[in-house]
Amino acid sequence: MECIFCQIVKKNIPAEIFYEDDKIIAFSDIRPIALIHILIIPKTHIKSVTDISEDDTLLMGKLIFTAKIIAERNDIAKKGYKLLFRVGKEGGQEVQHIHLHLLGGKAPK
Ligand code: AMP
Ligand code: ZN
Repeated sequence: MECIFCQIVKKNIPAEIFYEDDKIIAFSDIRPIALIHILIIPKTHIKSVTDISEDDTLLMGKLIFTAKIIAERNDIAKKGYKLLFRVGKEGGQEVQHIHLHLLGGKAPK
């Protein structure tokens, strides 16, 4: 079966979408740990930071740029926020489709 985030990309399962273009989609985390908790993912299936290649560097930069845009739109750019990649088992990564957590609105855990 296809990974859960690929299914969100294909709109097979619902998500509260904050941003979308041809390469990236951003949506609310289903179990938020901060007032604003948004996941920013590439539409293409890359498992983890461990699996990115040099060809993916522009795409990874776009993930961070998208986080910045979303932070501005949600009025947390000035107050500050946290960006987080969990990587692999000991990094606590649960979903095997690379995702950038945007955490803001109050002190995130
Ligand atoms: P990580 O531990 O970094 O792999 O984070 C995975 C995140 O995905 C967790 O914060 C989950 O709450 C979130 N998550 C899992 N399934 C969904 C879903 N269907 N929609 C939105 N967020 C999800
Ligand atoms: Zn996937």
